[in-house]
Amino acid sequence: MDRDQKPTVVITGTSSGVGLYGAKALAKRGWHVIMGCRDLEKAEKAARDVGIPADSYTILHIDLGSLDSVRRFINQFRATGRTLDALVCNAAIYMPLIKAPLRSPDGYELTVATNHLGHFLLCNVMLEDMKRSPYPDRRMVILGTVTHNPEELGGKIPPRPDLGDLEGFAKGFQDPITMIDGKKFEPVKAYKDSKVCNVLTMRELHRRYHESTGITFTSLYPGCVAETPLFRNHYPLFQKIFPIFQKYITGGYVSQDLAGERVADVVAAPEYKQSGAYWSWGNRQKKNRQSFVQKVSPQARDDEKAERLWDLSINLVGLV
Ligand code: NAP
Repeated sequence: MDRDQKPTVVITGTSSGVGLYGAKALAKRGWHVIMGCRDLEKAEKAARDVGIPADSYTILHIDLGSLDSVRRFINQFRATGRTLDALVCNAAIYMPLIKAPLRSPDGYELTVATNHLGHFLLCNVMLEDMKRSPYPDRRMVILGTVTHNPEELGGKIPPRPDLGDLEGFAKGFQDPITMIDGKKFEPVKAYKDSKVCNVLTMRELHRRYHESTGITFTSLYPGCVAETPLFRNHYPLFQKIFPIFQKYITGGYVSQDLAGERVADVVAAPEYKQSGAYWSWGNRQKKNRQSFVQKVSPQARDDEKAERLWDLSINLVGLV
């Protein structure tokens, strides 16, 4: 809890979509939101457009694709003097149409660097800040997705995620390596792989630190938030049809406002204080939109893989 008597939450990627609406919902519930964004002007406009009160947020620069930038963000956060009471790792990129991999400033494939490695570094370093917070109910939340899980309908569409034996990570993940399993570049799979890493990271944080720190580590699938700009790099026709398909055929469609409320629940509602849980909501059955703890995919519940991913990621982000 901070000087203004508001608890503080850091959320990455709040210039649009789930993160922006999560920030809005948490501000409404009395939180101060540190919005970690790479485009400050865009974030400021977005916060104003959705009506987040000016005294409820602070925007700080972060580019999750750059390890240096993540470290600078943490220093800026510390300079605010605020306590870290909750952290939401939300930012992500999805680039289904690119033919060749893009590289992060550190030389890593950009999707995995942004969605997994940047957040992995952030969680590890900010864990120390969170440990120092006197707030009684501290939580660290990483966004997941149904497409990480081939056991779910939404996860059955190929290409399926597959981290293999993490051969690509073991070889340093730099040129010519483009995928975690060391195989040929596939941009959709790179996104799904990164989301498997997000769930494995959450589970490993829980295994290593829940008991000793009392922090709650969770993940969630907020539903198919088909109108966020996440799909901005897809075919224009896909962007038009996808929300309609999700609304009227699968019933999986969730508005940005509702997705934001779900994030806020997982951060702050007492009934979501269950470390190690992956939250989901009954989307398809219209009458049953209740939350429940969902089983994660076989890869994402593989404890050995979680540990190996942790060790290799520690090396890749320079925390050795
Ligand atoms: P979105 O509207 O595209 O939001 C992504 C956010 O991440 C934006 O604010 C974006 O900032 C930011 N971002 C991207 N790259 C960044 C970087 N290098 N550094 C800092 N910020 C960066 O997408 P969304 O749908 O809300 O997705 C948010 C999260 O929800 C993701 O983790 C996604 O996997 C998860 N999710 C979404 C859905 C869905 O149906 N939409 C379903 C399941 C899970 P810019 O404005 O600068 O690009």
